[in-house]
Amino acid sequence: MLILDGKTASNEIKTELKAIVQQFVLEGKRSPHLAAILIGKNSASETYVASKVKNCEEIGFRSTLIRFDENVAESELLQAIAFLNADPEVDGILVQLPLPKHISEQKVIEAISPLKDVDGFHPVSVGKLVQGLPTFIPATPYGIMLMLEHFSIETKGKHAVVIGRSNIVGRPMSILLSSNLKRGNCTVTLCHSHTPNLKEICLQADLLVAALGKPEFVKADMVKEGAIVIDVGISRVDDPTAKKGYRIKGDVAFAEVAPKTAAITPVPGGVGLMTIAGLLKNTLQAYTNSL
Ligand code: NAD
Repeated sequence: MLILDGKTASNEIKTELKAIVQQFVLEGKRSPHLAAILIGKNSASETYVASKVKNCEEIGFRSTLIRFDENVAESELLQAIAFLNADPEVDGILVQLPLPKHISEQKVIEAISPLKDVDGFHPVSVGKLVQGLPTFIPATPYGIMLMLEHFSIETKGKHAVVIGRSNIVGRPMSILLSSNLKRGNCTVTLCHSHTPNLKEICLQADLLVAALGKPEFVKADMVKEGAIVIDVGISRVDDPTAKKGYRIKGDVAFAEVAPKTAAITPVPGGVGLMTIAGLLKNTLQAYTNSL
């Protein structure tokens, strides 16, 4: 059984990106610039954004973090996005989700210029993805595709089962795996909360992607011998014995599932790190598109 280590794979990508940025800077160009907007004080969001900013700095990208209070007016947020859209020195814009209830997520997503939509959530980006056109791919599915590539996982002709149909993970994942791509060409079944016979479907999966947000939901009796398992889930589970008072758990019961698989991603240390790599690649793409 192979552990699909996100650290090795993402470090390799980051090293490549760093060298590319160094070259641009040597040529007298500015470095790529990611602007992140964070609203309120959600501790998971704080962690994710801090990690994105840190990773930008590590590879020589510029990053700007714009913070708003939990009660910020929607109009003020939209104005800030318009300002970033118009700034020629900002390449990528991301607004960390989830948003406070009084702000429309859809309005915010649609306010970001498709040219700077490095999260790939804008309907223009999604439409291009569906049509197989070059675009910004949402960072998590993109990171998973990069991971499959890094570990040379053959996907052609396989039955891929994706659990979860969210716009940020499950649905774009199902589109990519079914697309005519080097790491695509799967026959895909997309499962969700109304799928009645989930266990039977999962047992048919050569490649299983779990993205439902329920800690250790996928048990050994749901996984075929020799399957490849990609665990997207990140849940904080209370644990008084842990330093922080909680542990991060994936959607897969790793200890019992791993021995049955051909390859599996750990949590933490798997898809999460690849998501950042996907975001960094999108930001570089936005930058080179603008040159
Ligand atoms: P979401 O809540 O938006 O979507 C969950 C999906 O799972 C829904 O489509 C729902 O229909 C489906 N689902 C829920 N319960 C189910 C069940 N019992 N059986 C079948 N399907 C079921 O979640 P999301 O934003 O897609 O995130 C999913 C998980 O991935 C979360 O744990 C999240 O924290 C994690 N995540 C990780 C990364 C990363 O970088 N590793 C990035 C994004 C999200």
